[in-house]
Amino acid sequence: MIGAATAMRTDLCGRLRLADAGRTVTVCGWVDRRREHSEHLAFVDLRDRTGVIQCVVDGARDLRGEYVVRVTGTVRRRPEGTANDRLATGEIELADCSVEVLSASEPPPFPLHERTEVDETIRLRYRYVDLRTERLQRNLRARAAVNSAVRRAMEAQGFVEIETPMLIASMPEGARDFVVPSRKEPGAFYALPQSPQLFKQLCMVGGIDRYYQVARCLRDEDLRADRQFEFMQLDVEASFVTRDDVFGAIGEAVAAATEAVTGRRPGEPPLMTWGEAMERFGSDKPDTRFGLELVELTPLFERTGTRVLQAPCVKGIRLPGGAAGPSALTRSRVDELVEAAKRWGAKGLAWMRVVPAAGEATGGGAGGGSGGGAALDAGVAKLLSPAESAGVVSALEAEPGDMVFLVADERPVVRQVLGLLRLELGRPPVGEGGLNYVWVVDFPLFEGLDADGRPVPSHHPFTMPHVDDLDRLEQGSGPDLLDVRSQAYDLVVNGWELGSGSVRIHRADVQRRIFELLGIGPEQAQARFGFLLDAFRFGVPPHAGFAVGLDRLTAVLVGEENIREVIAFPKTQSGADPLTNAPGPIPPSHLGELGLRVAPPA
Ligand code: ASP
Repeated sequence: MIGAATAMRTDLCGRLRLADAGRTVTVCGWVDRRREHSEHLAFVDLRDRTGVIQCVVDGARDLRGEYVVRVTGTVRRRPEGTANDRLATGEIELADCSVEVLSASEPPPFPLHERTEVDETIRLRYRYVDLRTERLQRNLRARAAVNSAVRRAMEAQGFVEIETPMLIASMPEGARDFVVPSRKEPGAFYALPQSPQLFKQLCMVGGIDRYYQVARCLRDEDLRADRQFEFMQLDVEASFVTRDDVFGAIGEAVAAATEAVTGRRPGEPPLMTWGEAMERFGSDKPDTRFGLELVELTPLFERTGTRVLQAPCVKGIRLPGGAAGPSALTRSRVDELVEAAKRWGAKGLAWMRVVPAAGEATGGGAGGGSGGGAALDAGVAKLLSPAESAGVVSALEAEPGDMVFLVADERPVVRQVLGLLRLELGRPPVGEGGLNYVWVVDFPLFEGLDADGRPVPSHHPFTMPHVDDLDRLEQGSGPDLLDVRSQAYDLVVNGWELGSGSVRIHRADVQRRIFELLGIGPEQAQARFGFLLDAFRFGVPPHAGFAVGLDRLTAVLVGEENIREVIAFPKTQSGADPLTNAPGPIPPSHLGELGLRVAPPA
């Protein structure tokens, strides 16, 4: 056992309190700041993982920032009027200090108190200094609390942690593999796991029944705020279960993690179908913390004479107070939004201000909300018939002072563009507005058709179709297949995809049909996943599973927008590690051993 006190120290800096007054203590840490007090005396703030304590040091000439020191002194109440109530130790200080320098430090590469103003590459280059900051200390501890809470929750439910290999054959998660060349077999490669997917399914064939792993996954994808090459997930699989059993197990782990970090246990997440999420929020990861929902206007414009609104789908959103009052959008902001909508794929973004109906305040309003108190003005308002204007006002429940936005296009484009516009207009920072967990269910099995008209799977090809849609899967082809639902589901929080999973295919006939539709012939299937298909010939239980992204979960719980803030040693946005300089070249001799030659840049 090791407690706070060790052979080198009696106490931790941030834990000392007024109750300790009179005690002689020894603390160790880094010099956080120093301020001169008088010719001889200096205030030295000493920092360890628990916080800082002010030390009054005589003859502190040689103590500089980030020196590592050991201080022995007496705890006393700070003189009247000098207490610092922003500091947990602010009522006290260490007096009569004797100081031993344990190691000196060069001036730190960036001031720790101004870390957010420092270029991230510099912070990552000196990540060990960055890790000393309160923010990263807090985040990494929260991360550890998440890991341990999910482990406890899974174990309490009878799941066993099983480690699966890192050097494997390529497996399908839809991303690019990282590969490792084999020295024993030049020209052959291992893939690093995009997830333990097929191994956890093999565990089910192996009778493990309830598997989990805090697993490292590697995917060679473009990096974003919520994506790194390597990430951790709570990976789960269980036999003889339904989707709802999986929701119960995962819900428990996520609730435990949430409680461990925030002190509050969330309620059970509501279910929303993929179709509803797309129609109401324009996204399969709906951020339900705020409104601005997408409203269907297609029937209203079915026979419209307005060219810009002639399209298979028209939807709108209403921004309360967007046209008048303190939160009114400026004209240049509106122009920016129109440009953004075009970047997101729309031909344009129709907007209108909502004003009091004709006869009331404003002149020049085109159209009128019949009977209502609101009418549309500016933007495309003049192009709408009176019935269309009235219809928009009533469908969007628009009130004077609001701004409304319409997009007319193919349905997927309308959803996508208004979904992004909604986020742009209303999304609170990730750590604000509570934690809105949602299960998104009934995803389509295929996300579209490729150039050859072949369906593109939304998830890995072992995802069980919805039982009610099996006939359609059997008989359908081309576009009819796009309506086939899968038994795949996602967990979403505050607009972030936290994880996904599915009921798996355990029936050989269904699996054969899926491979056939995806154009994976029997030989290719055997070559790529033969080991799984073989295993399934020896008695496969029905099974289902899920994986929760632990970096994202931790980030949301501590209110960080970027998962790099909850990872001890992350890569930059471009995938580099400025600390170790990875990736880098390897010596030609090593290349030779691996049977590799580097081609000159194309
Ligand atoms: N293997 C999936 C993933 O990593 C999760 C699952 O289906 O269990 O996203």
